[in-house]
Amino acid sequence: MRDDTRRWTEADKRHCWHPFTPQAAWTAGEPLVIVRGEGAWLWDSEGRKYLDGNSSIWTNIHGHRHPALDEAVRRQLGDVAHTSYLGFANPRASELAEKLCAFFPAGTLERVFFSDDGSTAIESAMKMAIQFRQLTGEAGRDGFIAFDQAYHGDTLGAASLGGVSRFHDRFRKHGAEVTFVAGMDALKDLPGEVAAKAAAVVIEPLIQGVNEMRPWPAGMLRELRQWCDATGVQLILDEVMTGFGRTGRMFACHHEDVIPDYLCLAKGLTGGYLPMAAMLTTGRIYDAFLGDDSRAFYYGHSYTANPLGCAVALASLGVFETEQTLERLQPMIARMAERLARLKAGHPRVHEIRQCGFVAGIEIRQADGTPFPAAEHFGARVCTAARDHGLLTRPIRDTIVLMPPLCTGPDELDHAVSALDHALATT
Ligand SMILES: *Cc1c(COP(=O)(O)O)cnc(C)c1O
Repeated sequence: MRDDTRRWTEADKRHCWHPFTPQAAWTAGEPLVIVRGEGAWLWDSEGRKYLDGNSSIWTNIHGHRHPALDEAVRRQLGDVAHTSYLGFANPRASELAEKLCAFFPAGTLERVFFSDDGSTAIESAMKMAIQFRQLTGEAGRDGFIAFDQAYHGDTLGAASLGGVSRFHDRFRKHGAEVTFVAGMDALKDLPGEVAAKAAAVVIEPLIQGVNEMRPWPAGMLRELRQWCDATGVQLILDEVMTGFGRTGRMFACHHEDVIPDYLCLAKGLTGGYLPMAAMLTTGRIYDAFLGDDSRAFYYGHSYTANPLGCAVALASLGVFETEQTLERLQPMIARMAERLARLKAGHPRVHEIRQCGFVAGIEIRQADGTPFPAAEHFGARVCTAARDHGLLTRPIRDTIVLMPPLCTGPDELDHAVSALDHALATT
């Protein structure tokens, strides 16, 4: 082990506390220190190279060190790194808001509220939905409806919309009033008074990410929009994971021509470069907040609309055009389906492949179809083995996530699947 690696891992084990991490097991292991990236690849402090198989926790879009994104940050640094959005406008935020709204028909989503990450995008939508009811004479309508096994972030409000019991149950009573449903049938069966008391319903459209990459039935999103229109419940779409091309279209809601009342974007917004979020909403909702000062939306964060984040987000949207990212992605989505079908055929323990666009979950079970005992951490062991074959990714329980950056080429995708193939054969 190199001296640097030893120094960094010792300081990590002594002073750092990692997200979603049982620290005792972490400090007993040997963490990789990631020091460099380029395109779809990452390098650790020992000089080993890996394909970034989960886009650095679902964030990276066009690859690491993309010249256009790097240049956008550098150019913005030549002007200023951060200025307050409370009391001042900034050029990049103006340009970015205009560009984001242009993805939707005029008169629909036309206002952008910036924040810092997926959780705060959700948090701001929740608060806006509650205040909207207060401003429109329905103050008691402050509940939410969410879906079983959903994940919407970790701040208290966003976490209360979460349906993953191992993460969310212990904080349940500290958040919003939330009714959980399994799907459209259960939603339609809810007593009328639940809908009448609900400010909004929230969903990860097309596919639930943290719920082991589980796609919703086709047409479900459009049905949900119709139910919202019929009941007057507003629709919050959490596209924190699905946004920016991941599903094969720019946004998941484009697949079913659905326009939400609130659209939450984060992870891929900056191409995976900087923490930043945007929540888009309609002119109708915006207008309700006009009038005397007491109607204003008193919410914000110190780094709201950070110019570096806005600059790199603009550059990322530019690359979608100059590199025709979505057009080039379509054959790659087909290739991923074909390669993963072959992987399944070769390994009886691959129980199911769940794919939506360029996102896949590969569920591993015992050969007889029963799940591995949780204590075996089988999915994690497969991912650790895959490192030796040049692939970095993480499982969600025993579902291995494969969602490399959208810039991943055919040979790179084959490399990733082949690493999983070797890892499965030796675990
Ligand atoms: C990651 C994620 C969030 C939370 O975003 P953070 O940036 O981690 O706060 C919310 N919703 C979905 C669907 C996510 O995947």
